[in-house]
Amino acid sequence: MENLINENNRLIVISGSSGVGKGTLLSLLMKKFSDMYLSVSVTTRAPRGGEIHGVDYFFTSKENFKNLIDKDEFLEWSEFAGNYYGTYATAIKQALSDGKDVILEIDAKGAMQIKEKMPQAILIFILPPSVEELQSRLFKRSTESEEEIQRRLNIVKDEMKTAEDFDYQLVNDNLDETLAKLESIITAEKCQTT
Ligand code: 5GP
Repeated sequence: MENLINENNRLIVISGSSGVGKGTLLSLLMKKFSDMYLSVSVTTRAPRGGEIHGVDYFFTSKENFKNLIDKDEFLEWSEFAGNYYGTYATAIKQALSDGKDVILEIDAKGAMQIKEKMPQAILIFILPPSVEELQSRLFKRSTESEEEIQRRLNIVKDEMKTAEDFDYQLVNDNLDETLAKLESIITAEKCQTT
């Protein structure tokens, strides 16, 4: 797996607390690096309004997710706020062996599994300016119930501790600046000799 990352391509893993703005950052980043392969994860959570099966996620049942685990279909997977999320191994291996850069947007536990399997992966953690700010963003976007928001906020502190183990940490207090930093990291990493 490791030797699928070479002088031609990179595996970039982006994690960050729920509501930190990862989705917006990623869609802007993909406009800039349009050749990159953005992995579509499998999840057991219900689709939010506007989310499309096969584009935002592959939505599935817990039963089917467990079958996929048993069949060893995932490069990594984890449980987040009562649901399962996982990255299909085949799609990632194929994109990497085609020489593409790959981006995964996954939680911190999943990121650590990737680092273990593929130490050359580049791990970037996006932090909120503060937990209060995050709370207000989650309430403002109102895609989750109050109970779900509280559940996600409880995970934030643990995730922020794991951020220490990432290669880069970015505080998203200004979208344009954070995007510029992300672009710089990726550009610099692509120039590095492996
Ligand atoms: P959401 O429900 O807000 O879309 O995602 C919840 C969390 O699951 C986020 O931290 C997101 O990065 C993470 N996530 C999404 N896809 C995957 C995946 O394939 N694997 C892992 N480990 N986490 C994922």
